[in-house]
Amino acid sequence: MSAKTVKITARKIIVDSKTILDDATVIIKKGAVAKIGPAETLSQIKTDRVINLKNHILHPGFVNAHCHLDLSFLKGKLKQGAPFTSWIRSLVAKRVKATMQEIDNGIKNGIKQLISTGTTSVGDISSTGRSPSILAHSGMRAILFHETLGYNPPDAISRFNDLKQILEKFADSDLLKSGVSPHAIYSVSPALFKKVSAYAKKNNLPVAIHMAETEEEIEFSKKGTGPFRELLISFGSFAPGRYPKTSPVGAVANFNGLKNSILIHANHISNADIAKIKKAHATIVICPNSNRWFKRPISAPVGTLLDNGVPLALGTDSLASNYALDMTAEIREFHKKFPDISLHQLFDMATNGGALALGLKGGTGTLAVKAPFDAVAIKMPKNIKTDPIKAIITSRRKIAMVWINGTAKYKNMENMK
Ligand SMILES: [Zn+2]
Repeated sequence: MSAKTVKITARKIIVDSKTILDDATVIIKKGAVAKIGPAETLSQIKTDRVINLKNHILHPGFVNAHCHLDLSFLKGKLKQGAPFTSWIRSLVAKRVKATMQEIDNGIKNGIKQLISTGTTSVGDISSTGRSPSILAHSGMRAILFHETLGYNPPDAISRFNDLKQILEKFADSDLLKSGVSPHAIYSVSPALFKKVSAYAKKNNLPVAIHMAETEEEIEFSKKGTGPFRELLISFGSFAPGRYPKTSPVGAVANFNGLKNSILIHANHISNADIAKIKKAHATIVICPNSNRWFKRPISAPVGTLLDNGVPLALGTDSLASNYALDMTAEIREFHKKFPDISLHQLFDMATNGGALALGLKGGTGTLAVKAPFDAVAIKMPKNIKTDPIKAIITSRRKIAMVWINGTAKYKNMENMK
């Protein structure tokens, strides 16, 4: 965070999806928005630095609510559209063979891709333990969901202790905070799920769970049959009768893990599940291009969820099942499939909605007064007539600068001219 005060004037400032200011100025103090308003009104305020972005749109940085940076090294290495359990098998096989260097380089490239496409906060699932220090070095804002897996009930205590050790070693900072991720109902035993849920509740940690992603997951959850049963048998983790015997949402509710949780995908959920999700104040994260990569539709009942007031956020998922880590590509894909949802509403899900899902406080995901200055400057085409949110999402953007916590993290000077 810079101690200097900065004044930035831009042609358009998007404070949030509903508030767009023309010829406006933002004053930044201690890395946060101190004042924002018409340029004329704030012109007399003296600051250490003045940045004139007369031909730019300034907007809050995107919040990617679901990513796995430590799978970035798998970009282009897995078969697109393969059945989900085959994809898991290939992923596990490739990860075993990967060197730390490969994984670390993937994480660095992933972070670079996030920041250079305007994402300033990320909900990152950490399964290898490699991303925390690299994220800390990058200056990105993140919730690190330390992942736990283990379907053999006798392993629950040791897996839980491993997770606790990681959490105790990890010190939260201004930019990085811990969360937990019991991976999914087919990969985490009820005993482990219950322990992690109770621990998260006691320590007020955000929880991210892969939820009802495929029809095969529902089959396994309810009947204990299908490809997930085969997968668990091959991993030596299946025993007859060891499956939830209810929907994945019902299972997590039984494990006391649903309250305030972040549910990833939720492609196959019933009305009864939606009622449980609503009651638990859980958020659903849709990853539009991950669905496209797997050649499956976004089956989440988006309209019903919105009608029920269930909050939605957007994520990219990992480069093991996506083409890029660009939130505008996620908005475009979602809008293509759900044209009734406005670009403004999707912009809100991709900024403020993601911040609320991840529990990022103080107006993160907006440029309101007191919000951390996580922002993106886009060079505008001359005489822009179109709505600035539409311009950011649908036109070929030229990102000039990206700030996180008031510090410039990306500069493309050519676009500053
Ligand atoms: Zn995921």
